[in-house]
Amino acid sequence: MALQELLPLYDTIAQCNRCGFCQAGCPVFRTTGSEHSLGRGRQAIGRSLILGDLELNPEVMKALDDCLLCRGCTAHCFPAIRTDETVLAIRHAYVQKFGLPAWQKVLFQKILSDSGTLERTGRMALWAKRHGLADAAEKSGLLGMIDGRLETAMHVVPAMMEVPYLRGEGAKVPKPDTVLHRVGYWASCGLSFQFPEVVQATLRVLAKNGCELTPLNNTCCGRPAYSYGDHDSARAIARKNVDRLTASIEEKQLDAVVSECGSCSTHLKDYGNILKDDPAYAEKAAALSRKVRSFSEFLVAADSNGHLGKLSGTVTYHDPCHLSNRFAKVTAQPRKLLKSVPGLTFKELPEADWCCGAAGSYTFLHHEEASGVLDRKMGNVVKTGADTLVTECPACMMHLGYGARKKGLPVKVRHLSQVLDDAYAAEAKR
Ligand code: SF4
Ligand code: SF4
Repeated sequence: MALQELLPLYDTIAQCNRCGFCQAGCPVFRTTGSEHSLGRGRQAIGRSLILGDLELNPEVMKALDDCLLCRGCTAHCFPAIRTDETVLAIRHAYVQKFGLPAWQKVLFQKILSDSGTLERTGRMALWAKRHGLADAAEKSGLLGMIDGRLETAMHVVPAMMEVPYLRGEGAKVPKPDTVLHRVGYWASCGLSFQFPEVVQATLRVLAKNGCELTPLNNTCCGRPAYSYGDHDSARAIARKNVDRLTASIEEKQLDAVVSECGSCSTHLKDYGNILKDDPAYAEKAAALSRKVRSFSEFLVAADSNGHLGKLSGTVTYHDPCHLSNRFAKVTAQPRKLLKSVPGLTFKELPEADWCCGAAGSYTFLHHEEASGVLDRKMGNVVKTGADTLVTECPACMMHLGYGARKKGLPVKVRHLSQVLDDAYAAEAKR
């Protein structure tokens, strides 16, 4: 029986002429060599589901599960077919038909959808990791019982020793000398819990650039639920954030909402689209999306960055997929900022905008494919001779850091805000 939910995609899928040019841009295909990993293969599956030649079942879903949603294929495709959208639509149809695995249901519908539960769970996870309980859970097979593939997470996630950044009104923020901008700070889950030192660096850099900061009381942006096809949960999360952020924007008269997580900022910019069919939210969501800026995008537009001190070394930059020219198109800004730091040498990274294989939690669930993709990325990093690899996404930081540890490379992985923060600190010491 034809899959009715996919019918709106038929015109898109019909544009695929099976030329195979997408082979050149698909990091997964370059690792597996499998036709199903390729844009062409995924479009063929979509076509067969619509025509009723294939039935949507776990076996078929498995063939679509290993897509990074990175649009590397789109960049090499003449009709610029967005294979990620085909895959997302099929994942959504699958969730409608079969439901979510229990752990994803709890994660998307209970934890990530509520900032309070998210804080408590994040703190518990940090505590468990620090006290060796997470290792014990792995050794006892508990993680494996939840999902066998999650065991790899223990090796990829770095040691987390810092106190997490707590979002919302209780958060302490630095003050600018002169107020030039009123900015709402969006804290991403990954940075708050995994890299709170990045959050602190970002806040200092924004304050240095004249930002009066309002820490927003947001929950997860909803991208993880969206990527796994749970679009109802993703929309419920988006509505919650729209309500809270709209209230803050109005109360504090915010000029912009800024996040240094490329995935969060890009997903927030898409809220207007995600909620376009909801009459109660469409307009508010679109208005919020228009206020959102990624970190480097905001800083370059603000143009108030004049007192960077001297650093040394060679840096290179990895474009997170969601900031690349295939999504938010924030690629010139991070490079401009890095090149503006006195004393730093910037080397362009070959295939800088190729996915690193992190893709949210992809590396935990498809570790073999992700490792192949990561090996290619780290090989390119070595070619630059850089001692610092910079990016603007917590998942990329985690995965690139894992790649450097695994290969024993003398490369520090840092967020752009940390490099700028160092440069401001160097100037302050002069
Ligand atoms: S490049 Fe585009 S048109 Fe060609 S096979 Fe791939 S998805 Fe189809
Ligand atoms: S979105 Fe990325 S992983 Fe998926 S088919 Fe396209 S290039 Fe391959």
